[in-house]
Amino acid sequence: MRRFISITLGLALLLSLTACFGPPVDPDTVQESIQVIAMDTAMVISTYGSRSTAAAYASEDLIRELEAQLSRTEENSDISRLNAAGGETVEVGWDAYCLLDKAALFNAETGGAFNIAIAPVVSAWGFTTDSFQVPSQAELDLLLPLTDPRGVSPARLDDMKFTASLEPGQSVDLGGIAKGYAADKLADLFVEYEIPRAMAQLGGNVLAWGDRPDGTAWRVGVQDPARPDEQNAFAGILNLKNAFAVTSGGYQRYFEEGGKTYHHIIDPATGYPADSDLTSVTVVAEADVLQKNGVMCDAYSTGLFIMGEEEALRFWRNHRQQSQENAFELVLVTEDGRVVVTQGLAESFTPDEGSGYTLEIVS
Ligand code: ADP
Ligand code: MG
Repeated sequence: MRRFISITLGLALLLSLTACFGPPVDPDTVQESIQVIAMDTAMVISTYGSRSTAAAYASEDLIRELEAQLSRTEENSDISRLNAAGGETVEVGWDAYCLLDKAALFNAETGGAFNIAIAPVVSAWGFTTDSFQVPSQAELDLLLPLTDPRGVSPARLDDMKFTASLEPGQSVDLGGIAKGYAADKLADLFVEYEIPRAMAQLGGNVLAWGDRPDGTAWRVGVQDPARPDEQNAFAGILNLKNAFAVTSGGYQRYFEEGGKTYHHIIDPATGYPADSDLTSVTVVAEADVLQKNGVMCDAYSTGLFIMGEEEALRFWRNHRQQSQENAFELVLVTEDGRVVVTQGLAESFTPDEGSGYTLEIVS
């Protein structure tokens, strides 16, 4: 008996020694974290699980590949070739086709507010080249007719071949949806690599995949738009499991001229930066690989910011009545100091007491 005990003890000792001199490691908590500068923003991707390192590097490859196809500043991208084609039809890859096609749907849904054909106007303001300027009304009057979204024609010839064309003079800008699309593809990649949990921050696009290692929700801060340069200045915190959260706001990218501030989200109705009564819009939806909610959240956050509070809430109520699919919730920060949170997030949103906003839950 004594001998049996000492053998078992010896074995146990040996086993714990071989496990790197420590207690056994739960493979779901092994972590890798990488930074990627791409799509005009700084990204951080943290993956967990036994294949976390491979998944993190595959995530970087995926993002770089998407940027190479979708960027309008990289000369050989599908989108640059399309913009330079002067109305001719060009061959494009699946990702560009898919986004051009989805963009038409988001344009219709948002009553024209979300419009990728706004590109010539975005350029006239200098947001593509960082040489900012206020365009003249005469210039805008010439450019606005070029933003008719019906001129954008993606086509699927067969399962492998896709084309697209624009009307002469038109160009498209996927800056308002490319990061959300990348987030959807990251979710697919996490399934492929059997990643139990991950946190991907692609600028204002967050994918909170699964839960945290201790089983609690991920904490996603909603930046206080009044304090854009302070790292820990939040209007509140969202506690999320398996969700996309995408924020758009006029505080992210802007320039000042003649004492006025001009931001990068353009209202297609005027050609001017949207004169919104909101300072930011956050759209939250389930990270479901079948529904592809990441790209939807990105398009809606841009579109609903342009629409303003009243129309954005009407849009949310209509959507909720009409369909169970692609359900989403909102956090709106208003110019007059309120944080408006839709019912479905009432339990998940913790307002920041120090930020001074008044919290409103709406249904
Ligand atoms: P960000 O990309 O800064 O996170 P958004 O998702 O709101 O923010 O997208 C803003 C970008 O989308 C702009 O930089 C521009 O490239 C493009 N854009 C501007 N106005 C519109 C619009 N009305 N519809 C679609 N895209 C737009
Ligand atoms: Mg967007």
